[in-house]
Amino acid sequence: MISIHTEPQPSDLGDVRVTNRAVVLRHVRRHAPCSRADIAAHTGLNKATVSSLVTELIDRRLLRETGLTENRVGRPATMLVLDGEPYAALGMEIGADELVVVAVDLGGNRLLTWRRAFAAPSASPTETIRALAGLARRAVGRITGQGRTVLGLTVGVPGLVDTAGAVPLAAALGWHDVAITSELRTALRDPDFTVSVDTDANLAVLAEQRHGAYAGTADLIHLTGGVAVGAGVLAGGRLLRGSRGFAGEIGHVPLDPAGPECSCGRRGCLAALTSLPAVIRRLLPDAEDDGPVLDWLPEMERVLTLARQSDPAVLGGLAEIGRHLGHGVSVLANLLNPEAVVVGGHFATLGPWLLPAARAELAARTLAPEAGGCHLDASTLGPTATALGGATAALASVEAGRLPVP
Ligand SMILES: [Zn+2]
Repeated sequence: MISIHTEPQPSDLGDVRVTNRAVVLRHVRRHAPCSRADIAAHTGLNKATVSSLVTELIDRRLLRETGLTENRVGRPATMLVLDGEPYAALGMEIGADELVVVAVDLGGNRLLTWRRAFAAPSASPTETIRALAGLARRAVGRITGQGRTVLGLTVGVPGLVDTAGAVPLAAALGWHDVAITSELRTALRDPDFTVSVDTDANLAVLAEQRHGAYAGTADLIHLTGGVAVGAGVLAGGRLLRGSRGFAGEIGHVPLDPAGPECSCGRRGCLAALTSLPAVIRRLLPDAEDDGPVLDWLPEMERVLTLARQSDPAVLGGLAEIGRHLGHGVSVLANLLNPEAVVVGGHFATLGPWLLPAARAELAARTLAPEAGGCHLDASTLGPTATALGGATAALASVEAGRLPVP
């Protein structure tokens, strides 16, 4: 399981050394370059403990000395930065019409970003898992070929993911009871690294929290746009999961009882009004004349072209979809009072046309003045946010102070 931990604190209980390692690593990640004395001064750990931990972390190549010194009162200090050169983590996403894989090093630097066309909604779970495993193996091959060790792989799925990493339901993919984590492990022939699965929205908000325009924000929501619509919620710096892991399904909150049928079988859900298929159906009534849409990119290009040409029907449709989006966000704002809701996928692509109407609707439907201070913006992370969040999540074990297996 992945969670955003609250600030690790120096501890006298439990595995003190693991916790203290996490404290040191986090301080260096945020404040590098910094000296041993800086770490001791800011974390409350004593200098001898810091020195011992830093020696171990340098030995395991999680930290390195830059050789830089900082001029200040007293003797110059050797500065430390994250190393992480020998390690990498992978994140993947099952998207509407593609599979994505991203690899990062311990410092969060991207090592690889691959996107491969794949129509998961029309494939079987077995075919999708086989395709995921094939792409993962090639990425692992590339990373290990660079002499790095893969620490973990986390996959984002547009659907429900339970606490055991299985998918009881992903309506947008037509999945029921898919044991994706164990099947993927088997398809990867039981690799040495950890394999985890989470919702696309949970991973996307982890990416936002680390790399996005609202990085570091404790009360932050990422609303995914794609074949499904879901919310990844950080409340007080922690990922909100609920008792069985199913929190965040804002896409199936009903907004209009007379609205169109949803992939879940109900009517008028936020997803039925604003998901990618719903948007294409609403704006391009001829799109499904030749059968179901499998490749969304050309349809999205048509919508963008018509919007840029100020086609009145498309502009009217986008404003209406924007109002539905704002209505959905107001539910989040009333319930959770986030500092920001960041929208991804097609919501971001169509942001210039959706967001003005959505912001007005959000303000009108939220009880607190000014929507409780909630900003509503398009994600700046692009189409690989979920995969980037997956890679970030896969680093959680090391960031929590557990040393990688050599
Ligand atoms: Zn629904």
